[in-house]
Amino acid sequence: MSKVLIIGCGGVASVAIHKCCQVPEVFTEICIASRTKAKCDKLAAELAPKTTTKITTAQVDADKTEEVIALIKAYQPDLVMNIALPYQDLTIMDACLACGVNYMDTANYEPENTDDPEWRAIYEKRCKEAGFSAYFDYSWQWAYAKKFEEAGLTALLGSGFDPGVTQAYCAYAKKHEFDTIDTIDILDCNGGDHGYAFATNFNPEINLREVSAPGSYWENGHWVEIPAMSIKREYNFDKVGQKDMYLLHHEEIESLAKNIPEAKRIRFFMTFGQSYLDHMRCLEDVGMLSTTPVNFNGQEIVPIQFLKALLPDPASLGPRTKGKTNIGCIFTGKKDGKEKTYYIYNVCDHQECYKEVGSQAISYTTGVPAMCGALMLLTGKWTTKGVHTVEEFDPDPYLDALDKYGLPRSESHSPALVD
Ligand code: NDP
Repeated sequence: MSKVLIIGCGGVASVAIHKCCQVPEVFTEICIASRTKAKCDKLAAELAPKTTTKITTAQVDADKTEEVIALIKAYQPDLVMNIALPYQDLTIMDACLACGVNYMDTANYEPENTDDPEWRAIYEKRCKEAGFSAYFDYSWQWAYAKKFEEAGLTALLGSGFDPGVTQAYCAYAKKHEFDTIDTIDILDCNGGDHGYAFATNFNPEINLREVSAPGSYWENGHWVEIPAMSIKREYNFDKVGQKDMYLLHHEEIESLAKNIPEAKRIRFFMTFGQSYLDHMRCLEDVGMLSTTPVNFNGQEIVPIQFLKALLPDPASLGPRTKGKTNIGCIFTGKKDGKEKTYYIYNVCDHQECYKEVGSQAISYTTGVPAMCGALMLLTGKWTTKGVHTVEEFDPDPYLDALDKYGLPRSESHSPALVD
C-alpha cells in the first residue's frame, strides 16, 4: 500500500506508469505530474478503466524546487519517481530532502545549459582531474549522499536499463558467478527498424548529446578517452544477429569502477546503423546539435531543441518499430581459482512491447526497471539510506521482479568475447 508521485509523462514514464498500474497492491495511488498536464490527463483516462490504482494528475515545473515541494506537501507520497529529464535531478532531490521523502531517477544529472559559467568552471576542473569530458557525471548527485543519509532517506540513481539493469547484472555476476571480475563489457544492441531515415529512440536532445560526445572506457584505474565513434566492433547478438557497435562513454562505468574496484577494464558499446551515423555527423557539422542559443529572425532558439521539434516524437515510433533489442554484460574473471566468462542479457521485442503498453522497446526496457526500482524501495527490499546506484543493492529481488514484469534474463557461460 503506497502513494507515489511520478514526475514526467514522456516515453519512459508512460511505460513505468502502465507497469505501476499492473501492480496495484503496491502502487495503491499514483499522481502523474508533468510540465504539460494534458499528457498526464490523457494517460490517466486511458489507464483508469484497466486498474484499481487510484490515479490523479498535476501540473509541475520541476525546474522549480518550490513547485515540487508544494506538490509533495499537498500529495504526501512515500516515494518520488523522477522520470522527467536529467536536468531536473537536483531540483527534485532538493525537494525530496526538504519534505523527507525517498527519491529515484533513471539518468544522472546534466545541466540544460552547458554554457552556464558557474557549471562550466566545475565541469572543466572535473574533465582535467577525472579524464573524461561527458557533460554528465555522478559527482553532483553523490554530493547529496550525506544529506540523504542524515535525513534517513534513500535516493536510488539510474534505475533504467543502462544505467540500471546492467549494474544489477554486474552485482549478480559478482554475487553468484565470480570471486573476482577482471573485465566488464556492456553491450547495448537495438535491432529495431522504425522505417525513418533518422529518429532517436528516446529524448532526442539527451540521446544526441550522449552519442556525439567522445567515447571513453575505464582501464587499469583510469579513464581512456577516444574520439566519438572511433572504436568499432562487430558482434553476433542472440535473436538479433550481426551488428556494428561503437564504444561510448556511459554513466554506469563511473559507478561500476568505484563499486567493483578490482575490474581492470569496463567498456560500453552501442549498436548504430550507418544511416543514423551519417545523419548525426551531418547535423553536428552544420551546428544542429549545439546547445548554445542563436538569434534567428529576432527570436532566440537553441539548435538542438529546434531539431527535437522536427524529429519524430520517440513516443510515436511504437507502432512502426519492428525487431528486438538485446542488452547485457559480458564478464571475464575468476571463480575458485579458475578463469571463466559469463554473459547475462535481456532480449526484448519492439512489437510485443507495443501490444502490451503502446510503446517501443527502448521506452519499455527503461520504464519497467523504473517501476521495479520503485517496487524494491516501496516493499522494503532495498533500504540502505543515502545516495546509491543499482549495483550497491541486492540484485536478486530486482532481477526476479524484472523476470516477472517483462524483462526476463538470459545467460551464457561460453559467450563470444569482444576483442
Ligand atoms: P521524454 O522527453 O519523452 O519525456 C520527458 C518528460 O519530462 C515529458 O513528459 C516532459 O514534459 C517532462 N518534463 C521535462 N521538463 C520538465 C520540467 N521542467 N518539469 C516537469 N516535467 C518536465 O523523455 P524520455 O521519456 O525519453 O526520457 C525520460 C528519462 O529517461 C530521461 O532522463 C532519459 O535520460 C532517461 N532514460 C534512461 C534510460 C536508461 O536506460 N537508464 C534510457 C532512456 C532514457 P513535456 O511533455 O511538457 O515536454
